[in-house]
Amino acid sequence: MRDAEALQQTLRRIDGRGYKAYRDIRGSYRLDDADLHVDHVQGDPFASPSKLRVRIPLEWANLPDDLLARPVARLALRDLLTRRVHRAIGRGGGRRGSGKSGVVSVDAGGQEVLERSAVVLGDGFVEVRLQAGLPAAGRRVLGREAEALLLDDLPRIAARGLCAESDEHAELRDFVHCVENQEHIRAQLAGMGLLAFVGDGAVLPRESGASDRPLQGEEVVAWESPESLRVEVALLHPIEDTIGAHDTLTGMGVPLGVNLVVGGGYHGKSTLLQALERGVYPHVPGDGREWVVTAPASVKIRAEDGRRVASVDIAAFIQDLPGGRSTDAFASEDASGSTSQAANIVEALECGATGLLLDEDTSATNFMVRDARMQALVHKRDEPITPFLDRVRALYEEAGVSSMLVMGGCGDYFDVADTVIGMRDYRPYDATREAQEVAARHPSARREETPEPLRAAAPRVPLAESFDASRGRREVKIDAKGVDLLLYGREAIELRGIEQLLDPSQTRAIGNAIHLATRRWMDGERSLAEMLDALEALLDAEGLDVLDPFHEAERHPGNLARPRRFEVAAAINRLRSVRMRQRREAPD
Ligand code: ADP
Ligand code: MG
Repeated sequence: MRDAEALQQTLRRIDGRGYKAYRDIRGSYRLDDADLHVDHVQGDPFASPSKLRVRIPLEWANLPDDLLARPVARLALRDLLTRRVHRAIGRGGGRRGSGKSGVVSVDAGGQEVLERSAVVLGDGFVEVRLQAGLPAAGRRVLGREAEALLLDDLPRIAARGLCAESDEHAELRDFVHCVENQEHIRAQLAGMGLLAFVGDGAVLPRESGASDRPLQGEEVVAWESPESLRVEVALLHPIEDTIGAHDTLTGMGVPLGVNLVVGGGYHGKSTLLQALERGVYPHVPGDGREWVVTAPASVKIRAEDGRRVASVDIAAFIQDLPGGRSTDAFASEDASGSTSQAANIVEALECGATGLLLDEDTSATNFMVRDARMQALVHKRDEPITPFLDRVRALYEEAGVSSMLVMGGCGDYFDVADTVIGMRDYRPYDATREAQEVAARHPSARREETPEPLRAAAPRVPLAESFDASRGRREVKIDAKGVDLLLYGREAIELRGIEQLLDPSQTRAIGNAIHLATRRWMDGERSLAEMLDALEALLDAEGLDVLDPFHEAERHPGNLARPRRFEVAAAINRLRSVRMRQRREAPD
């Protein structure tokens, strides 16, 4: 490995030359207290920035040993170190010349804690992956500025972010322990018979539709669980508060089964559901939703008219479409509200969802209900839809899939709900008994409509030849345009309806995961669910770096954050070119 002086000499030599001369600095350098790797040099000052890594030996970083031992702790610590680097950049790196000269960035996340590739804890080292604009005047190399950037700014930013003074250890532990506690609660849910937990004192509302930070001010109503639904969960690390240390938390347990959220408009129903959607991920301390923890295989379901559907068996919900179109391998380039919502459910179940989260605000009415009067007016033989109302109990009783439905507009659901949570002035109460009494006093008079018992859909096999990541001369061209648009080869996959996808780096990772899957696992036999099992096992074993399509050890892998299997599947399901074969299992 070359040393700092070698880098300095190169930079002095190319000072003032054309920008392309920066190519000469590619490679690795041993600086005083860090290694600097220049992995990718941008072609010109206005192209996407250069990619670099700074690696520091663990013994110098002085991170608390106890946080390096447990997998969840390591993940949380990496997330925190990324945020610290981000803060250090805010204070350190600035412009040094024209365009993006000298601008440094790191891929730090928002309110959720995700596994990311930006900081890794390796064997004896901690490493941050950065982007930086190499300094230019016009299109010429600014050597002195580059020296300051590469030899001063970057090592200082990395050291500030990745290294800890001993008096900072408590702060690191607080963050990591908070995340570990959240995962500890998640691990208790199934054993306690719960779909989710909402801790007392949680702050669910957000600052605005555009900000994911907690709402602040006197109008905020902190969560207070109804007594009849209150449960106690154990913590891995005791929490200190004004009263003292405690090793349990109380909050509302959302039981497995069919749960309804009712209440007047604007009383906080959707806010609760959104917190549960996000509750599949841990949150940073201070977010307000740290103690909102949802079972990991919970999937938000909504109507999404216009989406593409490829060979999905939606017969449990929709049969006998006009023109005799079959629905056991339903395909559409432009699904309707109800067919898209049915497909979203079947696809979630295909990938192993055990919880469904639905909001009336984003559901198709005719998919959710068909009341007595409509049953009287429109004969069943003219209505292809079996409403969710008539399937939700069987989903739980026969398939073990729980649901949580926000339903302020239709009392027919009282007949099928196990638990009814009322929201009044942002405060929850247990409305189960009352709802049952109302249901008994005012029978809905509707008939249950289930043409056939619920059956599991056949596994689908994605066909490799229907995927193409190439564009123009590039063999692989995959990129994320924000969270909601994944560019895959020549295709654009629209992901706006995927509400539990949070981060553009997850979107990018999904694109790369699809490409990896086409090469490794799409053999014409393996089902989508089996591919996702293989993907998760690979990511558990090797980390996110393996997703980089040009992956080589010791190279900047790009900015990736780990997606859930459900969101990977969602992207595959929405790829316009994709073709799927249903695999009919031979009867035993
Ligand atoms: P609903 O779905 O019942 O119509 P929402 O959940 O959309 O109502 O909430 C309506 C408004 O109330 C939103 O602006 C939300 O931010 C705010 N809100 C929700 N919960 C609280 C709370 N606990 N404290 C203060 N404001 C809240
Ligand atoms: Mg609402």
